[in-house]
Amino acid sequence: MIDMNRRGLVLAAGGAIAANAVGAPVWAATPQRKLGYAIVGLGGYGLGVIIPQFKNCEHSKLVALVSGDPVKAKRVASEYGVPERSIYNYDNYDSIKDNPDIDIVYVCLPVSMHAEYTIRAAKAGKHVLCEKPMALSSTECESMIAACKQAGKKLMIGYRCHFEPTNLEARRRARAGEIGKLRYFRSEHGFVQGNPSAWRLKKAMSGGGSLMDMGIYALQAARYMTNEEPIAVYAHERTDRSDPRFREVEDMIEFELEFPSGVIASCMSMYSANQNHILLMGDKGRIELEPGTGYHGNRLWVGNGRSEEITPPPGPGATQWAGQLDHMARCVIDNREPIVAGEEGLRDMRIIEAIYRSAREQKRIALKA
Ligand code: NAD
Repeated sequence: MIDMNRRGLVLAAGGAIAANAVGAPVWAATPQRKLGYAIVGLGGYGLGVIIPQFKNCEHSKLVALVSGDPVKAKRVASEYGVPERSIYNYDNYDSIKDNPDIDIVYVCLPVSMHAEYTIRAAKAGKHVLCEKPMALSSTECESMIAACKQAGKKLMIGYRCHFEPTNLEARRRARAGEIGKLRYFRSEHGFVQGNPSAWRLKKAMSGGGSLMDMGIYALQAARYMTNEEPIAVYAHERTDRSDPRFREVEDMIEFELEFPSGVIASCMSMYSANQNHILLMGDKGRIELEPGTGYHGNRLWVGNGRSEEITPPPGPGATQWAGQLDHMARCVIDNREPIVAGEEGLRDMRIIEAIYRSAREQKRIALKA
């Protein structure tokens, strides 16, 4: 039996999704139309990383651009075949509501703009994929979730590692017990931030320093690798405040997460060293990724030390970004919740707030269940 939804997409009846070996959804039927994305913010990530990925997608296409720079927007539109009528700026952004080609808005702006542009998109009747970290505060996250719920629209956070083959394979092996009982987790994430005037170093725009931007990968990995939610955090910050880059936000922050099983996650982020590493220690062996959450070239070892390197099976998309973009499109088509919905971003923000509080007050902070 075939069911035609209101947008003319043909779906198999039931539309049930099963999970494949790495826990990623397997969809019931292939839709006949690609869903249209508007990219908001043509910066390093939106233009440099996301837009070139549509060619790898099965269910997603680029249909509109939102930018404060009309010359750049016109150039990008012509390069990627976006009609000029589908170029918007931050003032006329709300008129995306009149553009039926746009199904999903992808917010690739500085963190301080995530809440506003997500809420405005929802009010314009569009589904939203919003970059990480979700917003400046958990209060903002809550208002984004509420706005999307009220509009009946999906909200997903750009946690691309949930679509990245190395992470999915590491998680599968950890959960299958290949390294025995997990004892501890370690992850360090950082890069050398060179530009003192970058928005990432302005607290009002970023919400914080390396923790918000890079530590969030360690926090996410600790949660998806252990499959547990932390019950307490303890954090310690080290920042040279005389460094002009770090007048407003932290450089280095170390945080420990306690999990109900007794597993400890020991994480660190920094804006003064290039690091990208994940380690899971079990009582029968270890799983290590380095780099762990890079755009390309992530590597995985399982066993003892680095003697056995694993080549993971393919992920859900041709690339992690294609997997992510198509996942959101399929969730819209099949009316499913994204595996990394707004609630997932909110959970991280609540933990991040507790980490900052712990560092400030220099004490262990228990987390609410
Ligand atoms: P960027 O500075 O390169 O780009 C930001 C864009 O926002 C630019 O096009 C800029 O013109 C625009 N903008 C609009 N108003 C602005 C203002 N008032 N100040 C500064 N810029 C303004 O930043 P980016 O690296 O592209 O990051 C954008 C978002 O993507 C952030 O949320 C970031 O955390 C996220 N990101 C995610 C990943 C990932 O792997 N998931 C990687 C990089 C960035």
